[in-house]
Amino acid sequence: MNKEPIVIAIDGTSASGKSTNARLVARALGFVYVDTGAMYRTLAWHCLEAGVNVDDPRAVAALCRRWQTTLACVDRQVRLLVDGYYPEKEIRTARTSEAVPRVASVPKVREWMKKLQRSCLQFGSLVMEGRDIGSNIFPETGFKFYLDAALAERSKRRASEGVEENLAARDQRDSQRAAAPLMIPLGALVINNSALTAEQTSGAILAEIRRRLAEA
Ligand code: C5P
Repeated sequence: MNKEPIVIAIDGTSASGKSTNARLVARALGFVYVDTGAMYRTLAWHCLEAGVNVDDPRAVAALCRRWQTTLACVDRQVRLLVDGYYPEKEIRTARTSEAVPRVASVPKVREWMKKLQRSCLQFGSLVMEGRDIGSNIFPETGFKFYLDAALAERSKRRASEGVEENLAARDQRDSQRAAAPLMIPLGALVINNSALTAEQTSGAILAEIRRRLAEA
């Protein structure tokens, strides 16, 4: 295994299985798992709690500047804390989901997140999932994956978790923003997993990582 930390970038649409597969891949490799969606969700929740208007980019950017952030690595997973607190459940509500793409489209927020997300290397080799990991956060990595699945399948997956939400609207916002939009990164292996199990998807990712490692 290389001495330098390795970054596995997993991007894709909402509910395309990024979290499930990134966790499986991280566990198989013994790498640290980073859910960057949870970081944006935490910022959105923090704004809502602090009464900051999520549609006011200056106010959102100002909150980031004031925020004394702490990153913690617990059970090989990175957590972004708000005054020492990890809002695990609160960031998954429909209210937070609706607010996230609004704060995530602010260019200053993305600059701020980039520093924070790159600093996760302090914890070692990473499996990082999100929307712009291969295109913007770690464009230099040779391990890029892009997951997608049919909209009906993705909506079914969310509904089975008890979450009803307009995924198409969120994807559209994420793809159309000017700053670091959702896109297929150059060199990424694209996997449409509509008809695949998580074991099959993560198996395909692991096989490709091993192939690229052997080549390197
Ligand atoms: O992955 P998850 O659905 O938790 O992401 C929530 C939202 O966070 C996305 O819809 C997107 O607006 C934002 N996000 C982003 N860039 C990332 C990860 C998430 O803009 N790298």
